[in-house]
Amino acid sequence: MRTALVLFSRDLRRHDHAALTHAARHFDAVVPVFVWAPGEEAPWAPGGAHRWWLHHSLQSLAGDLAADGSRLTLRHGPTLSAVHDLVRESGASGVFWHAAVEPAMRARDADLLAALRADGLDAEAFPGRLLHDPDAVQTGSGTPYRVFTPFYRAFQRDVVVPLPLPAPHLASKAPDAWPRSEPLGALGLLPMIPWDVAFPDIWTPGEAAARDRLTERADGGLDGYATRRDRPDDDGTSRLSPRLHWGELSPRTVWHAAADSALPGADRETFHKEVAWREFAAHLLWHFPHTPTEPLRPEFVRLNWRDDAAGLRRWQSGETGFPIVDAGMRQLWATGWMHNRVRMIAASVLTKDLLVSWTEGARWFWDTLVDADLASNTFGWQWAAGSGADAQPFFRIFNPATQGQRFDPDGAYVRHWVPELAALPTRYLHDPAAAPASVLAASKVRLGTTYPRPIVDHKAARQRALDAFAALKSAG
Ligand code: FAD
Repeated sequence: MRTALVLFSRDLRRHDHAALTHAARHFDAVVPVFVWAPGEEAPWAPGGAHRWWLHHSLQSLAGDLAADGSRLTLRHGPTLSAVHDLVRESGASGVFWHAAVEPAMRARDADLLAALRADGLDAEAFPGRLLHDPDAVQTGSGTPYRVFTPFYRAFQRDVVVPLPLPAPHLASKAPDAWPRSEPLGALGLLPMIPWDVAFPDIWTPGEAAARDRLTERADGGLDGYATRRDRPDDDGTSRLSPRLHWGELSPRTVWHAAADSALPGADRETFHKEVAWREFAAHLLWHFPHTPTEPLRPEFVRLNWRDDAAGLRRWQSGETGFPIVDAGMRQLWATGWMHNRVRMIAASVLTKDLLVSWTEGARWFWDTLVDADLASNTFGWQWAAGSGADAQPFFRIFNPATQGQRFDPDGAYVRHWVPELAALPTRYLHDPAAAPASVLAASKVRLGTTYPRPIVDHKAARQRALDAFAALKSAG
């Protein structure tokens, strides 16, 4: 009996799974495996919210595989020794998985491939995490793209997105004996302190729920996406980011669901373009693997970031006194997700108003986002700080009050997440410090007591940031 191991990672699904499909086609027995080896991802081992998702998504995958007559085997790492053990125990002659994008995991892939092939095994890391091959999509001079628009033009011209593969049937692919599996609880993914109480009401991790959500979004849920996507008070985006990150849905599946939908053309095109931003972020991480900790634009190494532990804590806990930022940071803590527009504003306030390094913000997001993704998070933070590719110029500094008024015009988002301001008239909701004392009193808002005063004077902080940027330029 020819047996293959299939290693699951950020591809917790059965549909459009190239490694699983290959194993099922060419081998008599297929052993699905997940190896928990967070140390191998250092310094970007999965954060708390991330692990919560992983626990539930693995549970769901195990259930789906069991329903198909298969079984998920869980093991602790290191990956290489866990795979060696499983090869020995199962007599496997093939080991297949999806190639990683993250630098540490790419190195691990290379080591694993080399070691398994040296042992004479049939080993392969299939593409599957991305729509494009970062080494194939290049500028005319053979360099990686650093600007989205030409990247997207090349992507549209060169990338053909194949149709997703069906889920292989595994009932006839059981080995004579299943290898021992550790219990899911032994991986210790769930938090010791129950900060995740609200998560199960909001999220149902797993491929089935992901596919349901995709269908609902493609069947009208994304109508108006081109304009609604910027409004945090509206459920107008897909919220598929954790599904894409964990691979419960492949990017091909998402791409084709939108392409085949009856969504209005502008909405479909805008959605495809957003999915392509994910590709662009991965393209940058692939070619500039140092960027999770270092600025892409090297001159930013010299930017005089402030050390402000107290300010960082207030930002993290949604106590900045800028309602749109506080709403976002509280949404993040409570749900593990934050609307993209608010991520941009919150990141701008941290890096420009507080002049705290983007790496601090990226770390916090890493621990708290269920969709924490090394490529997209790095890209988003470097974009906001002005130090990345195709970034928001450093001198363009969001005013949190006017951003709030523009993108949460009725104040529904802020009222939901910052209930102590709920009674304020909409006119003052995004800038409570501008409200007359009588309005504050009538709304039961006492600044500095029931809700903080702004952590900085935005105008003065803006100037401070511009000065820091000017110093950077003149030193260069
Ligand atoms: P939709 O609007 O429905 O978009 C569909 C998909 O396109 C998303 O699921 C996502 O995969 C992709 N996408 C959309 N916008 C972007 C973008 N700007 N960059 C990359 N991909 C995008 N996204 C993550 O998945 N993980 C992160 O860790 C992450 N960190 C971020 C940090 C900052 C500071 C910023 C500004 C953005 C970050 N983003 C991150 C990008 C973006 O905010 C989320 O992808 C988006 O909010 C997810 O919501 P959605 O699925 O409803 O998006």
